[in-house]
Amino acid sequence: MNANELRESILRHLEFSQGKDLAHSSTFDMRMALTLAIRDRVIEPWFRATRATYAAQSKRVYYLSMEFLIGRLLEDAVMNLGLTEMAQEAVTGLGFDFRAVLDDEPDAALGNGGLGRLAACFLDSMSTLGCPAYGYGIRYEHGLFRQSFGPDGRQVEDAEEWLRQSHGWEFERPEASFRIGFGGSVAESGRSAVWTPESAVMAKAFDTPVVGWQAKWANTLRLWSAEPLRAFDLAAFNAGDFTAAAAPEALARTISRVLYPDDTTAQGKELRLKQEFFFTAASLRDILRRFSAENSDLSALPSRVAIQMNDTHPAIAGPELVRLLTDERGMEFETAVDTARACLGYTNHTLLPEALERWSESLMGAVLPRHMQIIERIDDLHARQHPTRKSSIVENGEVKMGDLSFIMAHRVNGVSALHTELVKSTVFADLHALHPERIVNETNGVTPRRWLKGSNPGLSTLITETIGEGWEDDLERLVELEPAIEDRAFRDRFAAVKAKNKAHLADWVKGEMGIALNPDAMFDVQIKRFHEYKRQHLNILETIALWQEIRQNPTADWAPRVKIFGGKAAPGYVMAKEIIHLINNVARVVNADPLTRDLLTVVYPANYNVTMAERLIPASDLSEQISTAGKEASGTGNMKFSLNGALTIGTLDGANVEIRELVGPENFFLFGMTADEVVERRRHPDHASSAIAASPRLSGAIDAIEAGTFSEGDRGMYRMITQNLRAHDYFTVCADFDSYWDAQRRVDHAWFDRDHWTRMAALNCARSGWFSSDRTIKGYMNDIWNVTPMI
Ligand SMILES: *Cc1c(COP(=O)(O)O)cnc(C)c1O
Repeated sequence: MNANELRESILRHLEFSQGKDLAHSSTFDMRMALTLAIRDRVIEPWFRATRATYAAQSKRVYYLSMEFLIGRLLEDAVMNLGLTEMAQEAVTGLGFDFRAVLDDEPDAALGNGGLGRLAACFLDSMSTLGCPAYGYGIRYEHGLFRQSFGPDGRQVEDAEEWLRQSHGWEFERPEASFRIGFGGSVAESGRSAVWTPESAVMAKAFDTPVVGWQAKWANTLRLWSAEPLRAFDLAAFNAGDFTAAAAPEALARTISRVLYPDDTTAQGKELRLKQEFFFTAASLRDILRRFSAENSDLSALPSRVAIQMNDTHPAIAGPELVRLLTDERGMEFETAVDTARACLGYTNHTLLPEALERWSESLMGAVLPRHMQIIERIDDLHARQHPTRKSSIVENGEVKMGDLSFIMAHRVNGVSALHTELVKSTVFADLHALHPERIVNETNGVTPRRWLKGSNPGLSTLITETIGEGWEDDLERLVELEPAIEDRAFRDRFAAVKAKNKAHLADWVKGEMGIALNPDAMFDVQIKRFHEYKRQHLNILETIALWQEIRQNPTADWAPRVKIFGGKAAPGYVMAKEIIHLINNVARVVNADPLTRDLLTVVYPANYNVTMAERLIPASDLSEQISTAGKEASGTGNMKFSLNGALTIGTLDGANVEIRELVGPENFFLFGMTADEVVERRRHPDHASSAIAASPRLSGAIDAIEAGTFSEGDRGMYRMITQNLRAHDYFTVCADFDSYWDAQRRVDHAWFDRDHWTRMAALNCARSGWFSSDRTIKGYMNDIWNVTPMI
């Protein structure tokens, strides 16, 4: 394809798809026309991949995930097709600003944070590796809420509207529709049972092609939308009741209406259970239909089908698959359980007890009566096979979805080395003892196409000029940068790339927030969901202490810093929202202080999402990965930063442990207690108060908050935070504070030797190649799915 063909194709889509001529086209029209022109190019590799998979009768992977945090698609697709320059030329030639056209695309925010973003990186890697795969999820009408800040600095949530404009990437598939039932009754008849649901909705498929690097392969992301069986009640309409006439439609659509905006607590909400069953059941129906088109013998299912459950959200896949095999296809129960297990894998993402899904037996029995019976039979079978087991799936009137997933999966994986060991020794210690081969580790990764090549073109160019092409799908080749890092000229270029990225970010912050940043300051960044375990409050307490110390001694040799925060809190998570409120007010006070100007600035741009991450990470000097040890399963933000040449200040938690080992302890700022030490420290009832008493800086910072410094004299404003720190402090912010402070001063010290800093930053990049999600997916293919790549 040449530039002229692309131009013609864009013009054709402007005219025939958008119904516009060039002279009257908006940026939106141009973006849609470019999207459709690019989508046309994806069709050939997409069809080719489908045909090759059919021809080879190869095993397919089905990745079931309640969330896919995809972000924008256009720039990524253009890059994977190798058409970036051509597209830029064509769009510019037609009189449009290419950047503005790309920026017109809304983020597809069908996820909360790390878990959903992981699923999106996996889609990219599966396509890049030629792993025949489908992603299955929900086509939420409203993705994660849009965040803004009120005049008082509190988080305000608004509905997200990504589908208000048509979504140029997807293909509607009305022929792939399945009826999904809920409630009702079960009639036993001999060995099997007949479930008669009380209500039902249709699941309709929408397909988005996912093209891999260099378009060698493309897979499908199939998202389900809920529709009524019958859209409209004509009898009610004729009787004059217009609201009742539309009721079936409204009710059905509720199921795929909105993403639950909380990823750290599992509330037993009926709608959530219905969402989980809705997309899981539709996906399984689709999987069996595809299998049956090629095979007649169900015992071959595990050799053709690998189903991965991303967390317990699709855990109902176990009982549903057993139900489909027994009740609907006549397989014997124990054989069905074994067959289902041989297909299923389960990824655990959290040890936080409040995030582990449990459904009340009565709710499960009401919404999914047949599944409740099957779960009990699975429990009984497992108890018979393992009489020494101490607990069961159903306990105290609750169904433990983690235990169900474990028992129904042939492999269970943790997402970092430390997390996997904790999975073995804590949540699943009992089951691990019975099934010692089942738990494996697959440390998370990120796609280097989006998170380096696309988001950091300056660094990518430098890398290619230094080690040549081909690192994009062979990321461990970045180690070849190491000899060059010894060269001063290379380091200067590396530093110049970072400086340019920072200047870009400073322009954006100026435009968005009206705050001028000192581009020579260290950009110190903590962007992630707000949660107490992630400890944004530790960071802001250190900021307050630093501000106080600079004020006391303004002429000392300080390393100038810009503290950047980004992230959303679940709307119902009051403490996290209080921390957001505090940060915004610390920013207001600190940024207005003439004494500390140019030495300390705090900025918190609203509405952190994938696009903002792509903007911030390449411009970061310091990456804050400061969770309470033992609480962050892996983290993937930490990997994106290191890959882009930011140094990490962090605890021994999640994948930080592996990052530190790989980049070298001398290139990582470690602080804080280990996971074991945290558990031990919590045994002392005064662990927080004694830490405060021992630290004048920490007590000075807490006192300032309590004195109303950041609340216009209102002393009670942040009592929820300060009282928790003084009394309870489960996340050991106080006990880790001094260690964190000291590590930050080591960071300052390192910053003064800028050439050495650059050396460390470049080594972080060179040694982060292992964190490519290609490596992670190869691990899943070998250890869990038993699938071979097609290219
Ligand atoms: C990578 C990413 C995350 C995960 O960040 P962590 O620091 O690992 O929690 C969350 N949200 C977005 C938008 C991301 O890009």
